[in-house]
Amino acid sequence: MRSTHLITGALWGGAYLALSLAPLGFVLLTHELSGTPQPGRSFWTELSVGLGFVGLAMMCLQFALTARFPWLKAPYGSDVVYAFHRAISVVSVVLVLLHPLLLFVTRWEQMKQRPFTHPWPFWLGTASVVALLALIVVSVRRKQLGISYDAWRRGHAVLAMLAVALAVAHVLLVGHYLAEPWQRALWLVYTGAFVLLIAYVRVLKPMLELRRPWRVRSVKPELGGAVVLTLEPDGHAGLRFAPGQFAWITLWDSPFSDREHPFSFSGSAEKKDGSVEFTIKELGDWTRRVREAKPGQRAFVDGPFGALSADRHRDAAGFALFAGGIGITPMLSHIRTFADRGDARPLWLFYGAKDWESLPHREELVQRASSMPSLRVVFVLGTMPGSASLANLPANVRVQSGMITRELIDAHAPEIREWSRSGKRLECFICGPTPMMNAIEQHLSGLGVEMGDFHAERFNLV
Ligand SMILES: Cc1cc2nc3c(=O)[nH]c(=O)nc-3n(C[C@H](O)[C@H](O)[C@H](O)COP(=O)(O)OP(=O)(O)OC[C@H]3O[C@@H](n4cnc5c(N)ncnc54)[C@H](O)[C@@H]3O)c2cc1C
Repeated sequence: MRSTHLITGALWGGAYLALSLAPLGFVLLTHELSGTPQPGRSFWTELSVGLGFVGLAMMCLQFALTARFPWLKAPYGSDVVYAFHRAISVVSVVLVLLHPLLLFVTRWEQMKQRPFTHPWPFWLGTASVVALLALIVVSVRRKQLGISYDAWRRGHAVLAMLAVALAVAHVLLVGHYLAEPWQRALWLVYTGAFVLLIAYVRVLKPMLELRRPWRVRSVKPELGGAVVLTLEPDGHAGLRFAPGQFAWITLWDSPFSDREHPFSFSGSAEKKDGSVEFTIKELGDWTRRVREAKPGQRAFVDGPFGALSADRHRDAAGFALFAGGIGITPMLSHIRTFADRGDARPLWLFYGAKDWESLPHREELVQRASSMPSLRVVFVLGTMPGSASLANLPANVRVQSGMITRELIDAHAPEIREWSRSGKRLECFICGPTPMMNAIEQHLSGLGVEMGDFHAERFNLV
C-alpha cells in the first residue's frame, strides 16, 4: 500500500516537472531546428521567453493542484498538496517576473524611448503580472487586510483566472514560437486543459453535486463549543469514506456558490444507513450558523478527500493518535470505525485541550474505552478538573495536566519507542493547532519514530 503511494507520488512529481518544463524544451528545440538565432534575439531574450513560458505552464498547473482530484491527492494528502500549491506559486511568480525584468535590462535603451507607446501584447503581459502580484499579496496578507475567507476564495479564483487568461493572450499576440503548427498545438493543449479544468471545477462538478443532494438529519450540541451535524443522502446511496478523511460541505447555498467548508468525518466509516456525521467547532460566521440548520434542510457534500487514514496502513500493528481540541474528529472516526469493524489493534489516543469541559466527545471516549480494551486514552489538560469528575474512570483512561511532551508520551505509551526500535509497524496521526502538531512531530522523532510513520492533517489550509 505504502509503496503504491510512493510510486504514484513519484510519478505525479515527474509528470509535474515534465509539464512545467515542456515549454522550455520546446523553445530549445525550436532553436536547434532553426539553426541560427533570429536577428535581434539574444541569448538573454530567449532565456527570458523560456522562463516566462515555464512560469505560465506552472500557473496553469496550479488549477490542477486545487481541482480536488482525489486520485491526484491520494499519494500525499490534501494539506501537502495545498502546501506545495502555496510554495510553488512563489517560484512561478519569480519566473514570470524574471521574464519582463530580463527584457527590461537587455532592451532598456529601446524601451525607454517611447514608454507609453508599447503594443497591446505588452500591456496584456503587464496586466497579467499585476493580477499575479495582487493574488500573492492578498493571499499572504489576507488576515492583516481583514478579508474574510469566503471573499478571499472568490477573489483568488477571479485573479488567478485573469492572470492566466491575460498571459495566454499575451503569448498568442506576441506570436514568438508560434510560427509552426506544432508550436500552436502545444499552447492550444495548455490553454484547452486550463479551460477544461475551469469548466470541470465551476460547472460540471457543481452539477454532479446538485444531482446527489443530502438532507440535514440532526444538529446536536457537543462539548467544547461544537455541534454534531448529521446528514443523510437524499435519493442516492451516499458515499464511502475511510476513517480520518474529510469532505467539503455546503449548507444554505447551491454548489455553484463556492461557499463550502471542509470538515473531517467524525462518524464511523462502517455506518450502514448512509448517514455521515461531522463535529463542527464554532469559530467564524459559517460555523456559528450551523446550529441553526433545520432537519430536512438541503445540503451538499463533496468528498471524500484526505490521506490521514489507517486504511492506508493495513499492515500496521497499531496506531498512536494525537488530537488537540477539534482535531479529535478524524481520531474519533478511527475509534468508532475500529469498534464497528471489531479491529482490535492497539490505539493510543493523546487528547489535549484547555480543560475538562473543552473536550468534544469526552463522554463517548470514556464510555468506549470501558468496552474497548485495545483503546488507551490520555486526556492532557491545561486545567485539571475536580476529583469528582475523575472518579470511576476506566483503567485505560488517564488524565494529566500540562502539555503533550515527549516524556508524557513515553510514560503512557512506551510501546511507541519500543516498537520503533524493534521495527514493529506503528503509525502516528496528528491533528490540532499548528504549534502542537509541530511539537508532537519533534517528540515522535525524538522517540525514534521515522518521518514516514507520522502523518498530520492541518485544518488551516490558508
Ligand atoms: C481538511 C480540514 C478538515 C477540517 N475538519 C474540521 C472538523 O472536523 N471540525 C471543525 O470544526 N473544523 C474543521 N476544519 C476547519 C473548518 O473548515 C473551519 O473552521 C471553517 O471552515 C471555518 O469557517 P467559518 O466561516 O466559520 O470561519 P471564518 O471566520 O471564515 O474562518 C476562520 C478560519 O478558518 C479557516 N477557514 C474558513 N473557511 C475555510 C474553508 N472553507 N476552508 C479552509 N479553511 C477555512 C480560515 O483560516 C479562517 O481564517 C477543517 C479544515 C480542514 C482544512
